[in-house]
Amino acid sequence: MLEKILDRFLEENLQALRDQGLYNEIDVVEGANGTIIQIKGKELINLSSNNYLGLATNEKLKRVAVDAVHEYGVGAGAVRTINGTLDLHVELERKLAEFKGTEAAISYQSGFNCNMAAISAVMDKHDAILSDQLNHASIIDGCRLSKAKIIAYNHSDMDDLKRKAEDAVNSGQYKKVMVITDGVFSMDGDIAKLPEIIEIAKQFDLITYVDDAHGSGVTGKGKGTVKHFSLESEVDFQIGTLSKAVGVVGGYVAGKRNLIDWLKVRSRPFLFSTALTPADVAATSAAIELIANSSELVEKLWANGDYLKAGLKDLGFNIGNSETPITPCIIGDEKLTQQFSKRLIEEGVYAKSIVFPTVPKGTGRIRNMPTAAHTKEMLDSCIAIYEKIGKELGVI
Ligand SMILES: *Cc1c(COP(=O)(O)O)cnc(C)c1O
Repeated sequence: MLEKILDRFLEENLQALRDQGLYNEIDVVEGANGTIIQIKGKELINLSSNNYLGLATNEKLKRVAVDAVHEYGVGAGAVRTINGTLDLHVELERKLAEFKGTEAAISYQSGFNCNMAAISAVMDKHDAILSDQLNHASIIDGCRLSKAKIIAYNHSDMDDLKRKAEDAVNSGQYKKVMVITDGVFSMDGDIAKLPEIIEIAKQFDLITYVDDAHGSGVTGKGKGTVKHFSLESEVDFQIGTLSKAVGVVGGYVAGKRNLIDWLKVRSRPFLFSTALTPADVAATSAAIELIANSSELVEKLWANGDYLKAGLKDLGFNIGNSETPITPCIIGDEKLTQQFSKRLIEEGVYAKSIVFPTVPKGTGRIRNMPTAAHTKEMLDSCIAIYEKIGKELGVI
């Protein structure tokens, strides 16, 4: 009986996870995901969202979303290629292309979906993909879906990338070779070495693919990591999410007109999954406009990131080598890291522990995500609580 096999599978595996302390109990946020969140009735300073610019709860964007619901309804009604393409989607894509400095752009239902869509629309089993070892799960899954040969290179190791690119191209086994990287790596906050990657790509005629989910709205004065290095005309695929700094939901690819035209006829989530809702698209459009026209929030984000980093570093914490507002606080031992995070929550700071296998063994950390919306007082409270717990647990 099918049911019995499934039941046994689930029971055994759930129990195994619980026994190893690896079963993740999800915390439910009672209300908006702002700078202060409520969990189990307790108010906490939120250092765990990707809401870099605080736009998820922005008053203007909320009004724009509500207006779009009144005008267009709650759903797009169809997939993009039937009749789910509203004028709102076209407007958003025009703004995204302008924002990213490309000829065109295409939006998807999420950043995850983007990677499912875009990689397999271009790459197949006759091809190879050079992929940074620390790339996001959705990149890994998108690569797998394409059936191309996946060749991982050591994290940001340009010698390794070059060697593997040379081997792949010289082997004559592959029709096309692509290199894929995150723009900003979310666990350490380091930035991809895009100028070197582009150099290598030029040398070996590699297709270039940068997923800048954590860079857009953050680096390059808000325009992202490709812009940060002025490489807009060199990167073939610029991927972004509309759910992190942009504060809503969705994802996009920006690139040359012919690439976007191809994705509109060949990328499966575009063809077979209903378009983003009117409220999401309208709010996203307004958010992009806001980021493009004012550097205020981006500057506030960086100032807050610098402030938190300096505060933790002065206390003697190891904050790694982040080049962005992402502020890891590296504790080391996995159990100690989890205990630290638990104590933070008890004292009023919501910051999650990240441990092996998400990061290498012995580099357990608390990942702090300051945003433009945090006040100096909030960050001061966080730093004071870090000091208290750091001393209590013998970390500093
Ligand atoms: C978060 C993230 C995604 C997923 O984006 P969603 O819009 O949340 O689906 C994709 N790629 C990278 C690199 C990410 O960090």
